[in-house]
Amino acid sequence: MYITMIASECAPVSKVGGLADVVYGLSRELEIRGNEIEIILPKYDCMRFDHVWDLNIFHKDLWVPWGNDAIHCTVWCGSVHGRKCYFIESHSDDNFFNRDQYYGYPDDVMRFSFFSKAALEFLLQANKHPDIIHCHDWQTGLIPVLLYENYTFQGMTHPRICYTIHNFRYQGVTGIDILSATQLGKPEYYNHPDRLQDNAHPNALNLMKAGIVYSNFITTVSPRHAFEARHTDQGYGLSDTLYAHQGKFGGVLNGLDYKLWNPEVDDLIPYNYTISNLEQKYENKNALRDKLLLRQEFKPIIAYVGRLDVQKGVHLIRHGLFYALEHGAQFVLLGSSPEASINNDFWNLKQELNDNQDCHIEIGFNEELAHLIYAGSDMIIMPSMYEPCGLTQLIALKYGTVPIVRTVGGLVDTIFDRDYSDKPLTARNGYVFHEADYAGIESAMQRAIGLWHSYPDQFRKLVMQGMQYNYSWHRSGQYYLDIYEMIQSK
Ligand code: ADP
Repeated sequence: MYITMIASECAPVSKVGGLADVVYGLSRELEIRGNEIEIILPKYDCMRFDHVWDLNIFHKDLWVPWGNDAIHCTVWCGSVHGRKCYFIESHSDDNFFNRDQYYGYPDDVMRFSFFSKAALEFLLQANKHPDIIHCHDWQTGLIPVLLYENYTFQGMTHPRICYTIHNFRYQGVTGIDILSATQLGKPEYYNHPDRLQDNAHPNALNLMKAGIVYSNFITTVSPRHAFEARHTDQGYGLSDTLYAHQGKFGGVLNGLDYKLWNPEVDDLIPYNYTISNLEQKYENKNALRDKLLLRQEFKPIIAYVGRLDVQKGVHLIRHGLFYALEHGAQFVLLGSSPEASINNDFWNLKQELNDNQDCHIEIGFNEELAHLIYAGSDMIIMPSMYEPCGLTQLIALKYGTVPIVRTVGGLVDTIFDRDYSDKPLTARNGYVFHEADYAGIESAMQRAIGLWHSYPDQFRKLVMQGMQYNYSWHRSGQYYLDIYEMIQSK
């Protein structure tokens, strides 16, 4: 099958969160299975060019119709750790992709709508006719609309579209001026409850809803979250739309790319290890302490790695940090937020704890440090308010770091409580708690820290059980191929 991924992120070249890991990991799995894959991305100035090989101009003059005019673009082609990627560079005065950061600008909707249009225009002009276009999140929600309402009449009749939602909270809600910019026009047609009209704001359009309505199949990233999005407030206003389209909606658990995330071969950690030489993990613990100037103490290291977003339960992360320090553990935090108020809170916390040798707070995005934290920590916390899938807990398992998680979304599908799960004892792999309050997280942390201190052999057993889990892309890759085949045959 010939599959084109179109997304705003791809690991490790342009990564903000799990979306990037999924685009890379799924593409690799599909390619291993003999499919032809290419990935179309924006060419950002802030991307990691050190992860792109043989970057060359592929299409020098791509003119993308936009507003009353056309915008000149150049399409580059390069290899990102073996994946063929096309990068769209726009020469517009709007400077769409040269912003120092990937997201967080008032014109984000325009930027990514332009990217969506440019990606299709590129496929058209390069005479590419993939069997499947797989697009992701609100940033590419207009692609199915543009394809079926516009590009199909220019000869792009072949591709079918799979649309994956990684985060329902960000939907790309926007004014109707996007219709004139993309040349879709016809506001009275598109601003309709059955098409793009936002379910809460009748004068606004919703790009994620557009993706749901117009795609051949929609997935979200775990079976539990598919249920939550349909039946609880976690659909953020789109539950009714999902209901109307439920025949083409399902949950597929994300996999983890064990080529990038495997302590046995990870070259970003000083000591490689497997389940059979677990002692080496504790060399990484020493290395982590040395790097972050934590003192050598007989204590577990508890970590948080991830975006500092309300979604991730920032108040509980903060509480967990103090709980750890007061109950015989050290704490390491790596994260950042586009929201200034959250960032400032954690900067203040960093200052407050500056002299505490049991704690380190690192604000920013740092792939290399993330790997060392997964390898060197004993436990990781994920007290999420909602969590579509979560990759952090899957990475932690592979690195022998026990996840302490809240029972939401993909965390329910992947982590099974050591004391209370209905799984067999030997299949349990972490700690879970239900309520999003201090008592909830404390109950789980207390049990985890207690086991580490009082029953080290049992703790080690739990670590090894977690490492034995296989959450690779193997199974989920097959699910996606089944979906692609199904929508192709319709
Ligand atoms: P989300 O997609 O909601 O951000 P996931 O758990 O699905 O959360 O994926 C998070 C991914 O991003 C993981 O690979 C994690 O290691 C990485 N990550 C998040 N924040 C940072 C950071 N500040 N530095 C390095 N890696 C990070």
